[in-house]
Amino acid sequence: MTLRVVEYRDFNASPGRSNSRLSEDSRTSEAVREIILAVRKDGDRALASYTAEFDGIEFGPNELVVPSALIHQAWSDADPEFKEAVLLAAENIKRFQERQLPQDWEWGDGESFRTGQRYVAVERAGLYVPGGRAAYPSSLLMTAVTAAVAGVRDVVVCSPPGETGFPAQELLAAAGLLRDRFDSFRLIRIGGAQAVAAMAYGTDTVPQVDVIAGPGNRYVVAAKAMVVADVGIDLLPGPSEVIVVADAGTDLRLVALDLLAQAEHDPDAYVGVVLIGGGPDGLSIQRDMVETLHAEIKALLVGSPQEKLLQPTVERGIIYTCETIEEAVALVNAIAPEHVALNIDRPWRALGLVKNAGAVYLGPLAAVAYGDYTAGPNHVLPTGGTARFSGALGVRAFQKPVSYFWHNQASALRLGEAAVALARVEGLEYHRRSIEARMVRAAPTGVGPNVQRELRLHANEAASCPPEVADALSALVREVSLNRYPDGGAAELRESIGRWLQVEGEQVLVGNGSDELILLLCLYAARRGGTGLTVRPTFGMYERAAAAAGLPFVTVETRPPDFEVTPGHILEGAARAAREGGPPYLYFICSPNNPTGRRVSNEVITTALSQENAIVVIDEAYSDFAGGDCLDLVRQGSNAVLLRTFSKAAGAAGLRIGYLVGPEGLVSEVNSLRLPYNLNALSQMAGTKLAELGAKGGLEKRAREVLTERAWLYQQLEEVPGIEPLPTEANFILFRVLEAEDGMTAEALWHALQERGILLRRYGSEPLLDDYIRVSVGQRRENEMLIAALAEITGFEIFSEMSREGSP
Ligand code: PMP
Repeated sequence: MTLRVVEYRDFNASPGRSNSRLSEDSRTSEAVREIILAVRKDGDRALASYTAEFDGIEFGPNELVVPSALIHQAWSDADPEFKEAVLLAAENIKRFQERQLPQDWEWGDGESFRTGQRYVAVERAGLYVPGGRAAYPSSLLMTAVTAAVAGVRDVVVCSPPGETGFPAQELLAAAGLLRDRFDSFRLIRIGGAQAVAAMAYGTDTVPQVDVIAGPGNRYVVAAKAMVVADVGIDLLPGPSEVIVVADAGTDLRLVALDLLAQAEHDPDAYVGVVLIGGGPDGLSIQRDMVETLHAEIKALLVGSPQEKLLQPTVERGIIYTCETIEEAVALVNAIAPEHVALNIDRPWRALGLVKNAGAVYLGPLAAVAYGDYTAGPNHVLPTGGTARFSGALGVRAFQKPVSYFWHNQASALRLGEAAVALARVEGLEYHRRSIEARMVRAAPTGVGPNVQRELRLHANEAASCPPEVADALSALVREVSLNRYPDGGAAELRESIGRWLQVEGEQVLVGNGSDELILLLCLYAARRGGTGLTVRPTFGMYERAAAAAGLPFVTVETRPPDFEVTPGHILEGAARAAREGGPPYLYFICSPNNPTGRRVSNEVITTALSQENAIVVIDEAYSDFAGGDCLDLVRQGSNAVLLRTFSKAAGAAGLRIGYLVGPEGLVSEVNSLRLPYNLNALSQMAGTKLAELGAKGGLEKRAREVLTERAWLYQQLEEVPGIEPLPTEANFILFRVLEAEDGMTAEALWHALQERGILLRRYGSEPLLDDYIRVSVGQRRENEMLIAALAEITGFEIFSEMSREGSP
């Protein structure tokens, strides 16, 4: 009786790895598939009939469960020595598993988000305990104790019946010890593929389980492989394997015993030895070792009762010879065996090198057989080279991590933007919407200058201040003499605006926002006994400033749906002003008009300019977003006064810089009404910077970006049922809320949006605009959030174009 000898240099890794024959064994798979289908169809009846066929035991379908009295009796009748052994094994297995219990963990910043994992045991585990050649109470211990430590409360144990019609007495006894560790413990006397099918799918008697664990023959393993999509499977163990590594100092009798012990498990078991003989006499040492090992095996086996049974297995074994521990471990790692016994000098050093093995046994005293019973490590192990990627049965087979996640409003906004970007890339419409709806909800609803998180689409602001300006300011803030008053005349700023617009510096007047200039113009007119007039709906500040300045004020109304201003309106206003007050007549013409959005025609302006005693203020706060302006009128020396601001396209509303451009004489008179130092030093500097930027064309790109967004938002709003946007040439859109069956009014819609943190503009004191809401064009994300909120409120479906970028 000899084993094949393979030298290290002739070793080819593949034979070790192809040990698993599961995928090649089509006869077994066919038989197993049929069994699984029959059990799924006929349940207990199929179980009874297969048990009669394969195990030769006849019983009725309702006799599958082993009565608990039998189990109880078996444990009390058991031999005291056996009991003690089982208790010791159970204790060590338990301790070994307890150390593997994973810790629940949590990650978060303690405030805005919490995420982590909780490890939860499966509800019910199915344990397979082979019968076959021997009774395996140890396999029940290995699987059941592990399940109990994992936290499983309900187990179903399947084991084939022996000659008595029941699993072996020892197995029943071990069951008697273990059943108290569970709330529910059922021992079912069936085995084979039918047992796996029953546990995977459930029958009247066998409840469906969540995980099936435990070793078995090739039918059991094939069945486990087949049900793997429907139930958790621990491992797919094939025939057992061992590699014993020995060196010149090893007692080869122990090696021979370990090989025979392994052969005892299974006729298909795989036994291998790696013999290390190094140094100058390496080859002869290896030869001697091979010889001695053969002699030891012979001495142990020949003539013994097991000879016949074990001989074929042993003869299929292989002896590998090599020179160094590194070579030996390279062989082990290539084979990736179930068990490795390092029966060598300094085994701990080698342990660190072993990467692929189910379990490693160190030193001459640590026989693999200890590991089968009492050592603690599980004997349910990966075979067939699968130790490359898997390990021993442990608590984790009976548990699964449950991940969780929570976050607050700040995090909902922070993570939302990136998540929306990804959802858009993946084209998942409702993913994006579901996130955006949370972002809308997470935005605080409070209104106020310090609340930054709501969607501010109510004040026609820009997305940002140009970085050049912000940078310049942060540098200047240290240089500027903040203890000194600023230049009362803001000369530099006026000059730079003049250069930009190609007018004289004296034609320019700067104010604390154009609001201040409106007030100054009203004061000027009031002091001269004049009258103010405008065409409504328009910017409310004109009327308000007039009231503050004591300027009589006349308004003429335009009409929906387009609120178009005509020369007729001007004439009507002029007539009324002449009737109700006196000259000069201060016309406020807002173009593009806030909030209706359209530019006023040249005809209207020339009509106004041609009126006697007229000062025509053309408010061009939004002209950067329109297709033209009235600068030429000023350059030509007309009576037009342009009113402009850095609050809109220039993105500097916080700095409060407005300016007017007009005839020098008028500018100087209005200037004389201004209080000195109306514009602080920083704003003057920032304004200069902005004018320089404007002169270089640096503000136009910003305006163009708004136009792209405006087109997109307009198109979206047009699709929202129940609202009607007006054409616009500004950075906002006025829309009408149509009379709806469900009673949704502009006011209700405005409130509903506000509750979601979206601020739009309503006109409480302008009756013409009762049914209207104005929305400033925001950035894409903001506009999308608005549309998402409108969808949520009005219950309409968002159309797919939402995810198309940059549509015109
Ligand atoms: N004119 C119009 C038409 C406006 O809409 C606004 C502000 N909303 C202003 C002037 C005032 O701008 P500023 O920030 O320069 O005071």
